[in-house]
Amino acid sequence: MKNRSCQPCTACCDGWVQIEVKGCEAYPGHPCPHSTGKGCDDYENRPVNPCQNFECAWVKSGSFLPDDFRPNECGALVIDNVLVWQGLKVDLAVPVGREIPQDTLAWLMQNAERTMRPLIYQMQDPEDEETQKDPLTLAYGPPAFQQWVVEQQQAGNKLW
Ligand code: SF4
Ligand code: SF4
Repeated sequence: MKNRSCQPCTACCDGWVQIEVKGCEAYPGHPCPHSTGKGCDDYENRPVNPCQNFECAWVKSGSFLPDDFRPNECGALVIDNVLVWQGLKVDLAVPVGREIPQDTLAWLMQNAERTMRPLIYQMQDPEDEETQKDPLTLAYGPPAFQQWVVEQQQAGNKLW
């Protein structure tokens, strides 16, 4: 597999996944202040963590995601192994936008079944026009996993 390069994707800099950069938060609807929408205006000085260290599941070497799943193309930013549930690795997919496109989500769900990797995915509340910092969080996998995710949210526990 060829090494993949981010360009022209800037989804992680644009806040679709929540990050903190030099004490400044980025989250859905609130990009990193250094993001130009095409790249970073302070690339040489970007911090090691998270900027230099962060790799979404698509850009990682040996990625399980297809070539056309670069986040800006497929509409989902996937982070693999975001947590482990009952010995199973769990992946996270956040929308690049309000929600993950249906065909992308369908592929991710099929992959979750095929590889026995439960999936957590997010979407903005369809009934709320404003983009929320914390989108709705949903689970796909065994019923016991779905129940566990609901319970963690009800208890106010961070999932990752
Ligand atoms: S989301 Fe992935 S592909 Fe897009 S810029 Fe970030 S690391 Fe690169
Ligand atoms: S500092 Fe630059 S590389 Fe880091 S999140 Fe912001 S725009 Fe992206």
